[in-house]
Amino acid sequence: MTRSFGFTLSATDGRARTGRIDTPRGEIRTPAFMPVGTAATVKAMMPENVRATGADILLGNTYHLMLRPGSDRVARLGGLHKFMNWERPILTDSGGFQVMSLAGLRKLTEEGVKFKSHIDGSVHNLTPERSMEIQAELGSDIVMCFDECPALPADEKRVAESMRLSMRWAQRSRDAFGDRPGHALFGIMQGGLSPELREESAEALRGIGFDGYAIGGLAVGEGQEAMFDVLDYAPGLLPEDQPRYLMGVGKPDDLVGGVKRGVDMFDCVLPSRSGRTGQAFTRRGVVNIKNARHQDDPRPLDESCDCPCCRNYSRAYLHHVMRAKEIISSMLMTWHNLHYYQVLMSEMREAISAGRFDTWEAGFHAERAQGDIEPL
Ligand SMILES: [Zn+2]
Repeated sequence: MTRSFGFTLSATDGRARTGRIDTPRGEIRTPAFMPVGTAATVKAMMPENVRATGADILLGNTYHLMLRPGSDRVARLGGLHKFMNWERPILTDSGGFQVMSLAGLRKLTEEGVKFKSHIDGSVHNLTPERSMEIQAELGSDIVMCFDECPALPADEKRVAESMRLSMRWAQRSRDAFGDRPGHALFGIMQGGLSPELREESAEALRGIGFDGYAIGGLAVGEGQEAMFDVLDYAPGLLPEDQPRYLMGVGKPDDLVGGVKRGVDMFDCVLPSRSGRTGQAFTRRGVVNIKNARHQDDPRPLDESCDCPCCRNYSRAYLHHVMRAKEIISSMLMTWHNLHYYQVLMSEMREAISAGRFDTWEAGFHAERAQGDIEPL
């Protein structure tokens, strides 16, 4: 564990970038998509299968893990990597976002957030210092600053106050993180849809200094057009020689638009969660496998996909197991979706390296515009 954390850009094409993040637990090829392993598991998938889809790194949720099974317990059991049998890099969020979205009865102060667990109603305190402690106990490779994020739309005064509080918490997170060789701490830019607030936030974060920078406060109800408007300038406010991470995004075309605008890392529950409810992402758009049109269809979800689901199972079978609520339906659909997302990232990395991102992007949109294959 002597190798340190580092980021190397290998090619750019327009604002799109490709490169790699080095960590003591292995390399992360960028642009990267991180599957979400909320409760120390990517639901319905064995860790080795997640790796087989091409994932270099997983995301774990501080809020969920602090409540159950508890970060102190995970630490006693050897840390999150050992606990969940994933030896490659893990990024953990700070818990802030999920306290706001999931916890009952919460009280926000300068110090932090006091909240009631959505599981058993027990009362907890989360502060920048406590979040750093929990993420260290989990053994996270990339630690996120504790921040606060208002849902959009919100008035500018509320967004400004929240952003400034998050910047004070960013400094406290930096101080509490300390010196941990091989582990990285990322700052999180806030500021809603305001260029002035985004600039102020970026300046505050650059002043503190981090190993990477996230663009937070998007994908919270503003819509794709407003998100892309922010991404037209926000990545450019952050240091060029460090990774940029767009949190909680997104749909396949969100990822393409994010990469085009200079984002290096993404995470989202969409491919796994949608898989469990019967939605598959393919080159030709979204397929709802529960639809009756698939019940006699012997063809795979996607002829061009080489994942185990598409190689071995028909739409008719997937339709049947999904309707029958068989566990294998979640396994197969999740596998296909995570595979599709990783192929998408891999194609974008290659296109950037080859200097043909625009051509690749045109092909991506053209194929989706065809819609799903014709019914038999
Ligand atoms: Zn597939």
